[in-house]
Amino acid sequence: MENSITFLGTGTSTGVPMIGCHCSVCSSTDPRDKRMRTSAYIRYNGLRLLIDCGPDFRTQALSNGIEDLDAILFTHQHKDHTGGLDDVRALNYINQKPTTIYCEERVLSGLKMEYSYAFTDHPYPGVPKFDIHIIDENPFEISGQRIIPIRAMHYKLPILGYRIGNLCYLTDANYLADEEIEKLQGLEVMVLSAVRRGKHISHFSLEEAVALGLRISARKTFITHLSHQMAEDDKNIKGTHADLSAEMPPGIFIAYDGLKVSF
Ligand SMILES: [Zn+2]
Ligand SMILES: [Zn+2]
Ligand SMILES: [Zn+2]
Repeated sequence: MENSITFLGTGTSTGVPMIGCHCSVCSSTDPRDKRMRTSAYIRYNGLRLLIDCGPDFRTQALSNGIEDLDAILFTHQHKDHTGGLDDVRALNYINQKPTTIYCEERVLSGLKMEYSYAFTDHPYPGVPKFDIHIIDENPFEISGQRIIPIRAMHYKLPILGYRIGNLCYLTDANYLADEEIEKLQGLEVMVLSAVRRGKHISHFSLEEAVALGLRISARKTFITHLSHQMAEDDKNIKGTHADLSAEMPPGIFIAYDGLKVSF
């Protein structure tokens, strides 16, 4: 089977449209401007991997036919990346096994707070069940397949991206050290996040993500985790998917929910 990434969600923490907002992006009728919270499903040499499990996981799993997973890889513990974890209960029932998770120790601490009921000594029947593997910056294997963590900073929070074969997925960062960029040579697909135009305290801006994508120079780079703050009123740019796509340099693309790319 071909290796592929499906973008399950490509929106920032509020999703797009944002509740109560009527800006040009939030009122767009283009389905590519409807963005659930950021997550991706990866098929790699037979593995079925989910990166992050945000609040829209149930809808994303249903609409993409996800019925079993070999593992969830967490990038960090923010709610927009972990808020759907209770819904893996369905996978536990259907497949009669706990859900395998790979994450850092600090992410596990966050999960234990958020889902305390699943970590007690005598949990209530029916709570989600996990098989947790703690990782750090060192490469690790899932069923013999090598995964290379990529360390990045999300303001003051260290987070992980993942290189999986010729794909790298990195979201929620605003700093990537040179030695990590070294690990990103020869990529077919690079996924980077950009939250809005102009500087942000904890995320790459659109401009920064494009510049980093050009530097990494994967064959194709996809931008995810977008907010609705993409308009440029003085230039009459509404900031929709179509607008943003038109201004991307060759090889850089604006991702959208449901997009599937081979690597
Ligand atoms: Zn809006
Ligand atoms: Zn975050
Ligand atoms: Zn996020």
